[in-house]
Amino acid sequence: MSANSSSQGPKTVTAVKTAVFKLHNPTQRKRAMLNHALLRNHLAYTKALKAAMPLVKTLVETELQSRVTDKELTARERSTHARLRKWERAAILKKRILSAIGGMPICGASRAARSLPGSIIGQIESYLELHETHATVGLPTVQPLRRDEVPYEQALHALVSSHTVEQEEAARIELMRASRAGQLRPLLYSGNRAHDGFLLLRRETDNRYFIYLNLVPETSRFCRLTKVEQRTPSCRRIENLINMRTGEVVSFTSGTGCLFPIEFGRDYQDSEFLRRGSPLSAQLWKRGDRYEVQISFEFKAKQIEPKTILGSDRGIYNLASLAVIDQDGGVIERKNIDGMNLRMVQRAIERKHQQLQRRGKSFTGAARRHAANEAVHVAANAIVGLAAKNHSQVVIENLSGLASTRGKRRRSRFNRILNRAQYQKLQKVLSYKLAVAGLPAAREVHPSYTSQACPFCGSISAENRLKTVTSDGVQTHEFKCVSCGFSDDADLNAARNIALKRLWRDGLSPALRTVNFNEVPENKSFSSFLKFRAERRGERACDRKVGSSGRAGLDAQYEDGEVAPGGNAVEPRSGSNTHASKNLPTMQSAVSPSDENSRPLAKSVRLPDG
Ligand SMILES: [Zn+2]
Repeated sequence: MSANSSSQGPKTVTAVKTAVFKLHNPTQRKRAMLNHALLRNHLAYTKALKAAMPLVKTLVETELQSRVTDKELTARERSTHARLRKWERAAILKKRILSAIGGMPICGASRAARSLPGSIIGQIESYLELHETHATVGLPTVQPLRRDEVPYEQALHALVSSHTVEQEEAARIELMRASRAGQLRPLLYSGNRAHDGFLLLRRETDNRYFIYLNLVPETSRFCRLTKVEQRTPSCRRIENLINMRTGEVVSFTSGTGCLFPIEFGRDYQDSEFLRRGSPLSAQLWKRGDRYEVQISFEFKAKQIEPKTILGSDRGIYNLASLAVIDQDGGVIERKNIDGMNLRMVQRAIERKHQQLQRRGKSFTGAARRHAANEAVHVAANAIVGLAAKNHSQVVIENLSGLASTRGKRRRSRFNRILNRAQYQKLQKVLSYKLAVAGLPAAREVHPSYTSQACPFCGSISAENRLKTVTSDGVQTHEFKCVSCGFSDDADLNAARNIALKRLWRDGLSPALRTVNFNEVPENKSFSSFLKFRAERRGERACDRKVGSSGRAGLDAQYEDGEVAPGGNAVEPRSGSNTHASKNLPTMQSAVSPSDENSRPLAKSVRLPDG
């Protein structure tokens, strides 16, 4: 993933994102073609690299020599010389490589300039670069195709019997090398062409995706000149295949390639998102008996200068809560993203997990991962959508100060809907989705006190988030300021405060930005900042109670539950908060049947121990 300004103008950003797809159940014939293409490509690579090796050795010599002579030149001249040498090197290497693979029965894609010769030249260039700093680095090699168990056993034995750090390190490298043997090199596709590249295609009628891969040369026994559409029974009825790069409807004749339906990869891939990109290049891999293509997409977007701030809070009741504020802290738009689906799946899975455990069976958790992945993308899409609409700078929680809960027993079901790992995934997904939308990368702020602060009077107190239980036993998920009486949805208020806290931190002088939250002078504190902004907006709590809701939900007990004591050096958790949390009733009472009944979606889900 990279984002940078393109040369066409300062207002356009280009981002690249790779997605992995699996070729869907290839027929035996197609498998044979794939294996054939990969094997030929691997052999050609081996041969070409061998042919280039003597040249590489002399290149190393001349490179070292020219570096000595370069010493007398200016830095500018030196870089020009180096660039010239690199260009000359590439030309010589390419000639060698092409003559080595000239008569080999490889497909047009392998032969294409940037595929096989390009990757060998790249490998040699990176070797030369490495050689500059690490003179001991080994020459580039190709993994042998035959997997020999002897070297593996030897390496394993060497690792077990090693007794110094150096020995162990060498044995580990050797073991890795031995275990990699037997793997075919990937086949690289650099162009969107039928005769020597790949085409990513979409069927309009059912929105299915296909990839056309050039696999065999025209001289191959596999080559049959038939219409691509008629090649396989499963694709016979395809009428509208849209080229994802050009948007044109394609129908062409080719005997040198195959059309494969593709599955969205191990990771959840957002097809709507990918449709906005343009496929650049692809790599075909064989892993075990499955075939994968990694496709890089290029995205171009107009750069957006942020005018507002969007705070995002991981909800307890909601998947995420979003609030867009202006520079004065006034709310422009807010939104709760429902996490009910994920919560339901999680509960159902937990129940099943317990059943399986009782019977002594193991549990894979694939369904949980799938639901979580989808939730992450739902949240990311909502955040990016709202940010693009309001031209916002996205601000999210910084979790680096929080201790990992890994290995510890989960204290409660009523934790954040997105756990720590899922939230980290959300951050990653956000980073490329924001780049593709032309928005700046998300900024972070530590979430402490954001659930307890009142955006009107600036009062910060754990009691602002005390749980209230109505007469029928339903717990409300509400923020209520004990000083001024302002009340609001707790998650939305926290989201707003996350945005406000970023605004506050950015307004501080550089010296104060590193200071502990509680040690910022009173007149510059978050509290007075909130009060001041509210006054500037001319708003009072009694004038404006934004979307206050008495929805059933959860209390503040787990608000900062993941903060380890002293885990965060910048803004440690307040003692009063800990005290307040301890005095709250236990979570058992929160799992009341009425709580469940108030949510129609959750009706059918019985709690494991409720
Ligand atoms: Zn208040």
